Amino acid sequence: MKYFILFGPPGAGKGTQATGISERYNVKHISTGDLLRSEIAAGTELGLQAKNLISAGSLVPDEVVEGMIESKFDTVRDTEGFLLDGFPRTLAQAEALDAMLAKRGEEVTAVISLMISDEVIKARIAHRAAIEGRADDAREETINNRIRTYHNQTEPLIEYYKKAGKYHEIDGYGGEGPEGIEVVRSRVFSGMDKI
Ligand code: ADP
Repeated sequence: MKYFILFGPPGAGKGTQATGISERYNVKHISTGDLLRSEIAAGTELGLQAKNLISAGSLVPDEVVEGMIESKFDTVRDTEGFLLDGFPRTLAQAEALDAMLAKRGEEVTAVISLMISDEVIKARIAHRAAIEGRADDAREETINNRIRTYHNQTEPLIEYYKKAGKYHEIDGYGGEGPEGIEVVRSRVFSGMDKI
């Protein structure tokens, strides 16, 4: 099984690129953000707990997302692997993932990192707010907190995966609009084809 991690700051285009990647490499796309938003929409206990944290731009507890990921590993069949989008986001989550995979005799295949600047992050999220109507995209304070959270809690994972020899960085900016998305898609495919 292949275990790809799609890494990058909020607004880097992970969700946008995930569909093409999962089709090309026959891996199942799992987005912890999407899973959490479904829990909120369904009004579950977990969703209620996650809602305030997400709208503040903070992370939900590690155990919550770790449980979601593990239950997908247990239940999803008919795939050659997984594309994890938005997970792991903390060192503790990365270690938990390594342990989960070791238990299965598996390991992380590669980390595909889409890198963009803080300026591009802000512009992308502002643009997406108008289209998708996500509450956590609308307030400037929330966006700033997400960027801070990324730098403080998630960025250290770059070193972690570099040390493991699994880190592959791709320039996530190819210009704005549909052409920009295509440019990044080709960069991702040509990087991943070699893995
Ligand atoms: P973005 O990449 O734009 O930040 P996501 O959909 O990946 O959007 O995540 C939205 C929110 O969901 C995050 O800001 C965070 O509150 C929560 N979340 C998603 N994944 C995780 C995770 N692995 N650990 C903790 N919280 C998470």
